[in-house]
Amino acid sequence: MNIQNLIRPSIKALKPYSSARDEFQGVPSDMVFLDANENPFENGVNRYPDPHQNKLKVLLSEIKQVPTQSILLGNGSDEVLDLIFRMFCEPNKDNVIILPPTYGMYEVLANLNAIETIKVPLSDTFEPKVEDILNVANINSKLLFLCSPNNPSGNSFQSKAIERLLKEFNGIVVIDEAYIDFSKEQSWLNRLEEFPNLIITQTLSKAYGMAGIRLGLCYASQEIISVLNTIKPPYNVNELTQQKAIENLSQPNLAKNQIADILYERDVLINELKKIRFVSKMYPSDANFVLIKVDDANKRYDQLISKGIVIRNRTTQYGCENCLRITVGTVFENKRLIKVLQQIQSE
Ligand SMILES: *Cc1c(COP(=O)(O)O)cnc(C)c1O
Repeated sequence: MNIQNLIRPSIKALKPYSSARDEFQGVPSDMVFLDANENPFENGVNRYPDPHQNKLKVLLSEIKQVPTQSILLGNGSDEVLDLIFRMFCEPNKDNVIILPPTYGMYEVLANLNAIETIKVPLSDTFEPKVEDILNVANINSKLLFLCSPNNPSGNSFQSKAIERLLKEFNGIVVIDEAYIDFSKEQSWLNRLEEFPNLIITQTLSKAYGMAGIRLGLCYASQEIISVLNTIKPPYNVNELTQQKAIENLSQPNLAKNQIADILYERDVLINELKKIRFVSKMYPSDANFVLIKVDDANKRYDQLISKGIVIRNRTTQYGCENCLRITVGTVFENKRLIKVLQQIQSE
């Protein structure tokens, strides 16, 4: 597969903005910088941040075992996904394939970029219908989004299906691994070199506990990453985010222990939810949330709100009639949820 043929002509011709910090990378730190119209008085953030986030990337490279040149960082995965659209999809011409029910941002970003969305619903066990996907793809199908573990269903897709799509889809396959740290399945990161059309996105927003700093991670071949780097806004990851991320990632046991706690609590929560009579179905979860089917999602959702608990009502999503999505909280929060559900049940 020739990746160059998938890139938009205008992007290939683009001459990127060259920032002040870009032009003087790796120079001695005692140099006097009078080039970027910054305020010279030190306060920790008076200088523009490193546009390439080198320190953070070196750390990530060690943790994830991928070369720094295969990493792109963004202001949350949402920015990373938007950059992928802009790199490959020609407005009012190209299309992307999504598999509902899935993460809502893919379609929002498609609309924002004037890109058609082709929907191939997941099976009733929330697995990709590989044959249908390959049949519906056409010459303008540039991206295929696989969210695994999937939001809102919570399951991971079978790796056989993903592998076949990587081999047979004639465009870019984006695997969104926002929940991979909770999963029993392996990340596709260690197979990056095998598939030139593979892009993987991850985030610090879920398992790493840093939704507030907005850091999205993207991994792909150096060929793809180098182009994404030329189209990203120069200072898209701010100084405080870079510092916080480095601080957090330098303590690998922090996230590891929290993930273990969350997974333990998830199983406790599942056991308790099973005993609630109006819960008619529990979907298997490979993430930090569970999708459940109830008798009347709107009613149960409102009852929970009125008792001070907010979950996500997914009843209008494809294949999710009367489904609610519940994030695993602290021991205290989960207990409170169960107690409130028991109260509602006895009303
Ligand atoms: C939460 C989530 C993200 C994270 O997005 P950020 O912009 O990095 O916070 C990405 N993909 C999916 C499927 C998610 O559920």
